[in-house]
Amino acid sequence: MTEWKESIQDPVLDRMKNREEVLWINPGYRKEPDFGVAGLSVADIDDAQARLERFAPYIRRVFPETNATGGLIESPLVEIPDMQQALRNDFGLEVPGRLWLKEDSHLAIAGSIKARGGIYEILKHSEDLALEHGLLSPGDSYEVLANDTAREFFSRYAVHVGSTGNLGLSIGIISARLGYRVTVHMSADARQWKKDLLRQHGATVKEYAGDYEKAVAQGRKLSEQDPMSYFVDDENSRTLFYGYAVAARRIARQLEERQVVVDDSHPLFVYLPCGVGGAPGGIAYGLRTVYGSAVHCFFVEPVESPCMLVGMATGLNQKISVQDIGLTGRTEADGLAVGRPSGFVGEVMKECLSGIFTLTDEKLYRYIQALWRSEAIFIEPSAGAAFEGPARLLDYEAGRRYLADQGLTPFLEQSTHVAWATGGNLVPEEVRASYLARPLD
Ligand SMILES: *Cc1c(COP(=O)(O)O)cnc(C)c1O
Repeated sequence: MTEWKESIQDPVLDRMKNREEVLWINPGYRKEPDFGVAGLSVADIDDAQARLERFAPYIRRVFPETNATGGLIESPLVEIPDMQQALRNDFGLEVPGRLWLKEDSHLAIAGSIKARGGIYEILKHSEDLALEHGLLSPGDSYEVLANDTAREFFSRYAVHVGSTGNLGLSIGIISARLGYRVTVHMSADARQWKKDLLRQHGATVKEYAGDYEKAVAQGRKLSEQDPMSYFVDDENSRTLFYGYAVAARRIARQLEERQVVVDDSHPLFVYLPCGVGGAPGGIAYGLRTVYGSAVHCFFVEPVESPCMLVGMATGLNQKISVQDIGLTGRTEADGLAVGRPSGFVGEVMKECLSGIFTLTDEKLYRYIQALWRSEAIFIEPSAGAAFEGPARLLDYEAGRRYLADQGLTPFLEQSTHVAWATGGNLVPEEVRASYLARPLD
């Protein structure tokens, strides 16, 4: 634990230890990153996209709320000029160009970004099992997976996952619907309503004192003891990652439909709240494969749990935790309350990512309240983190320098900024009201 202290000097670490908000610009960023890093391949994103299309008839059948999107789990992209105005008037912060919201907060089935990777991983596992055991033949409509024979078949298998909340919701809901015995291992700081909702769907919820890492370790152990069990590995799963990466193809189409041009003189900036890193990492990787140097991806983390930033700034990735630099890892942003990052994602982001912002918990509430007042859109506190990006990019000297170094300063008026709203739709009414009424300093 002391080893890194002697070798690593990045001045951002001192400011992080003091719980100051920072913008860290990634020194490893490259205009043309290596997409083959960590054994990844662009062809595997195509594969994931095609698999989700094969499953669309099944999803549409068992979750009729996906009718409008033809059984694809996809969220709206909406322009939010009134929020842009609110950032200017109430916060004194200028977002250049146009500001949009990617509403993964409103994704079908699980109401969060986890409805991408999490559901995808369970579908892939189910396809593997079904093909192997002759429940499906190539060319069949996947609707057959909704029948009693299939449910009975899947009930012989178990699924385990460790979660701060939303991953558990997405894995729990889809697994229970397919027929699996599903157990979600949750950290103590996971929200009560998320546990209640999971139990209603028929999942088993186990709670652990201490943080998310303990819940994950226990889930992994129990799963390994059961030969019929499958463990969803949030930190290392390539499958989750590809499920998230498909989002990039989908938003590219949405931008095209809205006639938003993205190229080197019309830069796209995307701001993603980050926990363990899988969701924002998969999306950022996917976006870089679509747009190359025309897209600039930034993560946002709470000042008490900036795990990806600690990992990337030291180069130690998963070998260091926020606790190692004296932070608690505790935050109101339950989806981001992760002390140790995914090492795999840290490696992949080394050349893909532009930078990472941190913000205080108080700001999460400021942003979600401002979004509610200005646009009447509700998102959960973790998702509110996304706004720190567009709001502060020009406010930081480091941000202005990045823009100048990348030759972007002349193009800011024609830039596009997307705050990625990662959750909120399943938050119960009384919990919503308490977030929105929360007094601020
Ligand atoms: C999980 C989650 C994130 C971050 O995703 P990671 O894969 O953990 O980095 C962001 N926001 C919300 C609401 C989440 O549930």
